[in-house]
Amino acid sequence: MLSLIKLPRVFTINQVPKVFHEDSIISGYRHPRSSATDCILSLFQLTNETLNIWTHFLPTWYFLYKLLMVVLMQDAWHDAFTWPLLVFLVSACVYPLASSCAHTFSTMSTRARHVCFFFDYGALSFYSLGSAITYSAYVIPDKWVNSTFHLYYIPIAVVNTVICTALACYSRLGLPFLQYNHNIMKRFPECHSPKLGKMLRILAFAYPYLFDNIPVFYRIFMCTGEGCTDNETNPLHYRHTALAFLTAFLFATHLPERLAPGCFDYIGHSHQLFHVCAIIGTHFQMQAIELDMAVRRQWLQAHGPPITFANTLGAALLCVCLSLCVIYTFSLPLYWSPARKSKRGRRTKTPAKVSN
Ligand SMILES: [Zn+2]
Repeated sequence: MLSLIKLPRVFTINQVPKVFHEDSIISGYRHPRSSATDCILSLFQLTNETLNIWTHFLPTWYFLYKLLMVVLMQDAWHDAFTWPLLVFLVSACVYPLASSCAHTFSTMSTRARHVCFFFDYGALSFYSLGSAITYSAYVIPDKWVNSTFHLYYIPIAVVNTVICTALACYSRLGLPFLQYNHNIMKRFPECHSPKLGKMLRILAFAYPYLFDNIPVFYRIFMCTGEGCTDNETNPLHYRHTALAFLTAFLFATHLPERLAPGCFDYIGHSHQLFHVCAIIGTHFQMQAIELDMAVRRQWLQAHGPPITFANTLGAALLCVCLSLCVIYTFSLPLYWSPARKSKRGRRTKTPAKVSN
């Protein structure tokens, strides 16, 4: 059946513009101006992006199934205690979906590539806020419940999502209009140092992760004595924490392809492994959250602060709106040019001249 459809051809690194190059990946590149149809068709042929797409597209359905189970089985709308879990599950659906869409359509043009990954960064920030909201409601150790840290934890996490989405977007091209525009799309942060863009992006993801996980790190690595919530969930917290560090290691080092450039172009390169580790980590994180939620429900409902719309769904909606504003601000100069606009304006005003 597939042989009846003409699949798009793939290219080597020297045949595509620099913006599409991936570290130590030599072949399997799609056309840098693919149509949307070609992008979708490329899901069914082996390119260097195919497994990047599927490793996040399939898990989206798994988390969507979990979300629907909670909505349908746990009377989620009337039980405010489940709202943080809902936010987390929505964010766990959104980030792999945004990532698989970004990897699918990033070869439509240079501009599309940047915008696709801006959305990918926004979705990751949203996921980190989703984690923070559940940690505040179910995971925070007993002795920190109602502390000053607990009080400011979610507001700071919301501010972090804006800073980190902006920093991740900045890491690609620099400041909108000031350092890039419709005509100039140099990677400004990389003009000074080729590694700066990558380092800023790692910082943009590592910083909210480290902040959001303070309650988990304290609980499983540092807390001693009473009030540490040393329960049966801790092994699951160790597991998702270990996977998060493995994910960061793969993202930062580009192993194994750096050791043998060209050998892992299609299967087994770091970005695929990074996706798989991130998903398995999210799975263990979800199990840990659900177990803490079940085991500690009574105690938390008696002693914890009330779970409100503002510190769950409201914070999530605010994060989404602010992140969309950041993405819009960084995307606007790629598509908006005053010169183009005025030329188009002149053309429409004097059609006779143009036809002459
Ligand atoms: Zn990815």
